[in-house]
Amino acid sequence: MATDRKRVRMGQVVSIRFSMTVDGGEQHRVDDELAVYLHGHGNVVPGLERALEGHAKGDVIDVVIPPEDGYGPRKKGGLRRIPRSSLAKDLETTVGTQVVMHSADGDVRSLWITGVEGEDVLMDESHPLAGLTLRYRVEVVAVREAHVDELLHGHAHPPPS
Ligand code: ZN
Repeated sequence: MATDRKRVRMGQVVSIRFSMTVDGGEQHRVDDELAVYLHGHGNVVPGLERALEGHAKGDVIDVVIPPEDGYGPRKKGGLRRIPRSSLAKDLETTVGTQVVMHSADGDVRSLWITGVEGEDVLMDESHPLAGLTLRYRVEVVAVREAHVDELLHGHAHPPPS
């Protein structure tokens, strides 16, 4: 009996090579990037995870992902101006960096740095790709069973060096 090629499914570690463009935004373009992720654990956007389901090494797929299956809609009024002095000293204030903020009432939220102005850091509650339609070309490079610790952690680990 011929061995079936390993298929992308829940609990497999999948290596992909991908390019991505968004409608109306050259600055978000990604070219020929390699990623390794644990499938079925929300490590990639839902639309991409769904599109890859059942594919095998060597498959190349084109997928168009609307915001609701990507990074969600843009949140209204989510812009923040925060004094640099109130943030951790070693925080990288590079545009696009994700910052996890803990408020006094125990709320945890993610913000993304959109710029620096004088003594202030500008942040947005929306992911930089929120509200955008994503166009991916993805090649499945490898599929393997996840290790137990990867399943426990919910993400892929790099191979031991
Ligand atoms: Zn881990």
